[in-house]
Amino acid sequence: MSDYEADVVVVGYGGAGASAALEATAAGAKVLILEKNPEGGGNTKYSGGNIRTYLDLDKCVDYFETLCESTTERPVVDAFVRESSRNADWVKELGGEIISRSPTGGKGFRIKHAAAAFPTVRGADGIGLRVRVKGGGEYAGIDLWKVLARNVSERKIETLFSTPVKRLTVTKGQGVTGVVASVDGKDVQVKARRGVVLSCGGFEYDQAMHMQYFGQRYVGLGNQGNTGDGIRMAADIGADFWHMNAVAATFGYKTPDFPFGFMHLMPAAGFIYVDQAAKRFMDEPGTDPHFTWATTSTIDTKTLLRPRIPAYVLFDEDTRTRGPIAALGHGKASDAYQWSADNSVEIKKGWITAADTVADLAAKLQLRPDQLQATVAHYNMQCVGGYDQEFGRAPHSLVPLGRPPYYAAELWPCLFNTQGGPKRNARAEILDVWGQPIQHLYGAGELGSMWHRNYPGAGNISEALAYGRIAGRNAAAAQPVAG
Ligand SMILES: Cc1cc2nc3c(=O)[nH]c(=O)nc-3n(C[C@H](O)[C@H](O)[C@H](O)COP(=O)(O)OP(=O)(O)OC[C@H]3O[C@@H](n4cnc5c(N)ncnc54)[C@H](O)[C@@H]3O)c2cc1C
Repeated sequence: MSDYEADVVVVGYGGAGASAALEATAAGAKVLILEKNPEGGGNTKYSGGNIRTYLDLDKCVDYFETLCESTTERPVVDAFVRESSRNADWVKELGGEIISRSPTGGKGFRIKHAAAAFPTVRGADGIGLRVRVKGGGEYAGIDLWKVLARNVSERKIETLFSTPVKRLTVTKGQGVTGVVASVDGKDVQVKARRGVVLSCGGFEYDQAMHMQYFGQRYVGLGNQGNTGDGIRMAADIGADFWHMNAVAATFGYKTPDFPFGFMHLMPAAGFIYVDQAAKRFMDEPGTDPHFTWATTSTIDTKTLLRPRIPAYVLFDEDTRTRGPIAALGHGKASDAYQWSADNSVEIKKGWITAADTVADLAAKLQLRPDQLQATVAHYNMQCVGGYDQEFGRAPHSLVPLGRPPYYAAELWPCLFNTQGGPKRNARAEILDVWGQPIQHLYGAGELGSMWHRNYPGAGNISEALAYGRIAGRNAAAAQPVAG
């Protein structure tokens, strides 16, 4: 006897879960959403809300397939491109106003890229600009989320909050027939007549899993409810897995006061990054921010330490006064913290270290003062020449570190999201280790994302909406289980 029953049960109420629920409802199914947190939104709410658009669908399939390095079958990429090309129109139908987004993603100093993150890859010229939902949020994920949540509520789709799902229920010969969830600490049985959609996000807040799959720890930037629950549930019933070693990760700040990080974003060009040897190691503003993770995985082969975890951002007085050195996505969405406009509060808190000379700054950071002085002097000299011989930083971004005081903040690898989880096919069916669909089980969003390590920004929200709809549609159309 079940405590709850629906045609389609959606596990996790973020962008993918909302999209699945809306599409299944549109197809006539009775839907029940189960969400672990007291409110919905997941990472989607904290995100930049950027969505992909395309100029040429076939070229985009080539481009994304190449980025996935053959770890994602072409039909899965193809279905993604065709379905996600409808995303902007779909959001408009739901009442959202779509506006285009600059290639840099808005505020902060970054080199402008072409629409495609990796413009030399085959098919890159088929990629269009990113778009977002217009709204009051500084970070547009909250605006996208408001549109999705309003539509779920208007359709009166039943949603149980503070209801973590613990296990999938399997009935012999029928596949997945429901879930076990926890309500007020008590297990309840939930029957799914046609299908279960697993859309409960990644494992940004399970550091043991980070060590296991990435070999290093990351700080989460988004929803703290994303702790890998869907991976354990799918493993429990024999699902296959993919992309477990893949992340979309950037630099951010870790503070003693919050369990999540703050995304790093410089307001002006006068800054450099250095590692623990006080040396620069990358083209700071010219690297796609979703790919910063690639610089952090370096290991010192003698000490086995990671010389860029943390790394440091260095800047001068002029840059400090130009604006906050953090993107305020998390703070804006959750009102958890507002970074000060001139960074002065964070200096007082000790999150940013200040000193009158570069040597003093090095001493406070426990870096070699002579090396840090040499690094800054060399960078400043290259600024005069307008040529970064080491990392090819664009000439207009070569602004010297001038007026003291000098400042530094630790840069930690921070997760937008993980990509790994149960593998799915083009119908969003979750596959077992033999490549066969597990009956009545569907997956969507960053849990078992189609993206691998060469992640192009704005791909995860696009995928959450597109595969959410594919999963919802196919689950609603499945033959009901017996009994
Ligand atoms: C700061 C930031 C900026 C980003 N910017 C962008 C961007 O501009 N464009 C882009 O494409 N991507 C961006 N991303 C990534 C993107 O936000 C996510 O990958 C995407 O929102 C994932 O959607 P989802 O629905 O799969 O997961 P989520 O939105 O995270 O939703 C998963 C939900 O499942 C719930 N849940 C977890 N476990 C359980 C359980 N056991 N039972 C029930 N519920 C459970 C969670 O609480 C959560 O609400 C960003 C991420 C961050 C953090």
